[in-house]
Amino acid sequence: YAAKRSRVGVLRYDAASDPHSTGALELLGQLRGAMDEDQLVLHYQPKVSGDGGRLLGFEALVRWDHPVRGLLLPADFLPFVERTHLIHALTRWVLITALRQAATWRAQGLQTSMAVNISAVSLDTGLLGIVEEALALTRWRPADLVLEITETAIIHDPVGARATVARLRERGVRVAVDDFGAGSTSLVHLRGLAVHELKIDRQFVSELVAHPEDDVIVSSVIALAHKLGLAVVAEGVETVAAADRLCALGCDELQGFFFARPLPAEQAMAWARAEGMAGQVVELG
Ligand code: C2E
Ligand code: MG
Ligand code: MG
Ligand code: MG
Repeated sequence: YAAKRSRVGVLRYDAASDPHSTGALELLGQLRGAMDEDQLVLHYQPKVSGDGGRLLGFEALVRWDHPVRGLLLPADFLPFVERTHLIHALTRWVLITALRQAATWRAQGLQTSMAVNISAVSLDTGLLGIVEEALALTRWRPADLVLEITETAIIHDPVGARATVARLRERGVRVAVDDFGAGSTSLVHLRGLAVHELKIDRQFVSELVAHPEDDVIVSSVIALAHKLGLAVVAEGVETVAAADRLCALGCDELQGFFFARPLPAEQAMAWARAEGMAGQVVELG
């Protein structure tokens, strides 16, 4: 079946659906080299405060600048990486690279937090060691690191996830539940999970203004989160109308194409300067 698919030319889809396909095996074989040869890159998407103004932080999103296939998005390669132990090497690479970048920006006067996505399979006790290593290497403050985990990770191993999150919290690292509302959980698993933030899935956010149901869902999630003492982030903010509405609803942080797409490091810094995130960008001597 997979072979048939690739013959009709749906190469990406084919590879993603079958980890044993030649495409997937080839990619996996190339991944380690890619990390060493700077083919993996991080793009950075800003998060701004709910009142519309201040830059609060960036989220690192991985891309693979593949010499033959061009720029690959996470969906093109993460699914098979996640089925092998290479995912831990990737998680480590992303954490260290993102925090190095953030530390460089900090030295240039741009004070922000940095968020990194953690795959479900990486949310185990090994993660604690990787986080320690990255914090030590970059001398980054744990409170300025956000780890975004999905509901899938929590469903996958609720007891383990809870223990890992609790230890991260003790260490002072912030934890966010990503894509909240998109999974099959969720309130049961949220209970007793020591996270700091909920990120509302973008499917509820992007057309918030056109769909009254989405508005009900989003305002309820914001109220729920606040009652639980959690900060709320809306991802997928694409219009000024959505941004205004979220602001009126008291959403703490906004992120989306309306503000900026994920950008290569240099452009992310340029964006921060151009947007006059001036309170944040203090030029050093
Ligand atoms: P996510 O963490 O929920 O990230 C948001 C995704 O939505 C990103 O796609 C981003 O480019 C996209 N996005 C942001 N704003 C908007 C918007 O306004 N409209 C629309 N339509 N899309 C928007 P991307 O970069 O392709 O990443 C997809 C997913 O891959 C991420 O979803 C995350 O789960 C995963 N991912 C990305 N980087 C990493 C990584 O370094 N490690 C791991 N484990 N997962 C990663
Ligand atoms: Mg995320
Ligand atoms: Mg998300
Ligand atoms: Mg998402």
